[in-house]
Order: sequence, then C-alpha cells, then structure tokens
Amino acid sequence: MPELPEVETVRRGLNQLTLNQQITGGDVLLHRTVVYPDSVEKFIEGISKTNITTWHRYGKYLLASLSPVSSLCSSPSYLGVHLRMTGQLLWLHRSEPLHKHTRVRIFFENSLELRFVDQRTFGTMWWVEPELEVEKVITGLAKLAADPFSPEFTVAYLADKLKNSRRPIKTALLDQSIIAGLGNIYADEALFLSGIRPETLCTNLNRGQIEKLHPAIIQVLTKSIEAGGTTFSNFLNVSGVNGNYGGEAWVYNRAAQPCRVCATPIQRTRLAGRSSHFCAECQK
Ligand SMILES: [Zn+2]
Repeated sequence: MPELPEVETVRRGLNQLTLNQQITGGDVLLHRTVVYPDSVEKFIEGISKTNITTWHRYGKYLLASLSPVSSLCSSPSYLGVHLRMTGQLLWLHRSEPLHKHTRVRIFFENSLELRFVDQRTFGTMWWVEPELEVEKVITGLAKLAADPFSPEFTVAYLADKLKNSRRPIKTALLDQSIIAGLGNIYADEALFLSGIRPETLCTNLNRGQIEKLHPAIIQVLTKSIEAGGTTFSNFLNVSGVNGNYGGEAWVYNRAAQPCRVCATPIQRTRLAGRSSHFCAECQK
C-alpha cells in the first residue's frame, strides 16, 4: 500500500507534469471508482475544459484544484484521488496500450493522458463542484488528524493526543485520527530513532521522549520522500509495498539481524495485529 511518502512523491510528480494543460475529456472504465458525482458523465463533464493549477496532499488524499478554461465561471472545482491498496497514476501518451486494470482515463491536450490503474479496485476518485464544500463530499478528509508536515503537528499536539491513551505508543502512531498517513515502517523507524519501545503505554511517556519522537517522525518521512526522487520524466508511477525505506531501515523488517548501532539482534513482536521491530538495547 502506498504510504504517505510515496503519495507525497506522486504529488510532486503530478505538479511537475500535469499543471496548466487543458483537460479535454476522459473515460471511466470502472464506474465504482468514481464515488462522486453519481453519474460518470457528470464526472467527465466536470473535469473537462479545466486546467489543474496545483495538486495538494492531505494525509494520503490527493486533491487537484481545477480552474475553468472559460472565464465565465471562475470558481475552482476539485478532483480528488485516493490510491488505497494498489492504485497507480500513469502520465503517458494516449496511444499507449491499455493495461487491463485501467479504471479511469483523463485526457489532456496534445494527446497526453493521466491514467488510473488499480488492480484491487479500492482506489477512488471524486469531482467536487465549486458550490460544494470538499469535506462534505470527500468525507474522509474531515476525519483526518494533523499531517506530519503541517504546522499543526507540534510537540504540544502530539503530547496532547497521547496523554490519556492507555494503548502502546506503536498502536497510537498508526491511528489515523492522531497522525495522518504514518504507516507501519515509519512508526517502527521513528520509535527506534527516539529510543522508545513500541509497547510503551502512551500515558507512561515523559515529555523528553515525546520531544524526541516528534522530530524523529518528520525525519523518517523526509528521508523516505527524498529517496523517492525529485525529478520525473514522462512516466509517473506509484507502487511499492515497503516504500522507499526498506533497504536502509534501522529496524523495520530486520528481525534477528544486528542493530546498526549496538549489534544486538533486532526483535520482532506483534502489537494490535501489526508486526513491530525494535532493538531491546537502544529502545527502553
Ligand atoms: Zn541497538
């Protein structure tokens, strides 16, 4: 499943490749991929004759602002995309052969195309007309917690969210109502960098530990985004189950291998159904 750093990498790629080119039409091959509006004709009509002015990311939601080409109506509308388990966005020439899991095609001028390919079909798209509030249509946005890269995400925010929880810190970090978009790899890595055992109950964390955890979360995500690359050619593709972090991880997926700091074998446990990796020597 694409995690936050991969979705951020896709956002950057989309901003390099797709802006300020007119959308001329599209084709929805799997109707249920489009959650809103009810009719796929309305969806295609809505996105057509617009330019994408920018792509935003909220948690793992991608949101494009669409500016109408005609000056008669100047309010922007929005195109939302969630990749879920297996969604991929490809930027290619329209003549490229269709992959069998192609769900939605968005046509641009000059025969270019943004193609949504999704094997498991959990991925979704929305077109939100200017009169509507985006959060009312893409309801998941309203439930999102602070994004680790937003100004809202401070030490005080994190301390406040964790102070009354009797859950293990690892489980809390995966809770999307506390931090948006932090997946299993990044939670394990951030806990290693801050020297905290995954099973530590949130209520037992002291201020100093939270002060270490906060920058560690940002650090692991930043490193992974940087590994994802910053230049994009004519092909944009998001995939990867383990993200970009796997090869250089401190603890993730390294059970029984020596800790990179102290050489103690990395341990693996299960917490709330997810595997957790840690060093018993470096993390207390
Ligand atoms: Zn160690």
